[in-house]
Amino acid sequence: MSIAKLQPFLAPSYENFPKGRTIGMVVLRTTQSETIFRTEGTGEPMCSEYVQAGIEDTESIPRLVMTKRKQVAPERRKGREFLRSHNLLHTAKTNELCALNTNAPCEMCVDCFLYGFAAGGEGAQKSRVWTEDAFSVLHSTELIGDRTINAIFETGTMRDEKGNASTALNTSEYIKPGVHFLDILTLKDVTADELRYTLGNILLTTRYGAVSSRVGRMDNQILGIFGGIAELPSSLELVQGVYDKLKAKNTALEHPFKTKSLVDATQEIISTWTNKRGVFMQLSAAERDELIADVDRHWSLPEQETFLKRLDESYAPWRKVKSEGSGKKGKGKKSE
Ligand SMILES: [Zn+2]
Repeated sequence: MSIAKLQPFLAPSYENFPKGRTIGMVVLRTTQSETIFRTEGTGEPMCSEYVQAGIEDTESIPRLVMTKRKQVAPERRKGREFLRSHNLLHTAKTNELCALNTNAPCEMCVDCFLYGFAAGGEGAQKSRVWTEDAFSVLHSTELIGDRTINAIFETGTMRDEKGNASTALNTSEYIKPGVHFLDILTLKDVTADELRYTLGNILLTTRYGAVSSRVGRMDNQILGIFGGIAELPSSLELVQGVYDKLKAKNTALEHPFKTKSLVDATQEIISTWTNKRGVFMQLSAAERDELIADVDRHWSLPEQETFLKRLDESYAPWRKVKSEGSGKKGKGKKSE
């Protein structure tokens, strides 16, 4: 089984101290509808950053940025939906059920152990899912659409009875469908089940940013899975390498850009990464697909409950340590 090939880079069980086992993943995120990475209607501009276009091409271009938070928050929420449905979210000290973005994480559920938490003044659990900002391959001006929303009068038109045009309510920028972001994800000292849980969250999450039934649809594709003792090159480095490669092939760098050309260029770049310091192996395409099938099986209805309960149970010894050590600083699993 392909997960066995990753065994040297996985933890046999959860433990407090990091031991340098690193799984790196390359994720291609493609918008499938208009997408908005900011609070709708606030008028803030879409997040973009001036960076070097390629590694060889040193011109500066603005690239769209999908921030860490925009990636992780919806993926955590996805996993937590299933923890909730199997009663695996624990009760926080406030006697309320574990909730994201509150001051009262339960510190005991799968999500808290894996993605970490910061508890008010009382230490914290570091996240073992490391993300970084993902960048668009193309120039951001190619990728942003702009729409002005006008008030409609009771007549159902944009003009009142006297023929006056309605005033614009607001201007809304959005990311066009078919925009590609390349992303690197790092898992530190995770167990096989934690790897399945994180991958499941990524593969099952389909909405990002400002979410409605109409916007924010995104597809995630895992292009590469690596094992080693160090992080992969950064997502910026990847996007720049891909940009150089596409340019060298005289590919027109304009939107809409063919996903296949992008995937091929990315595969060419990442196939050389096992030469990088601390990156020891890459799963072959067949092994990667086998691992994804394994993840799908664990999340399937017949197996989901057993899988999530087993994962939840794996933290039981640490919960005990914590409750015995509660009140004493530096004890239990917070003592990193
Ligand atoms: Zn929790």
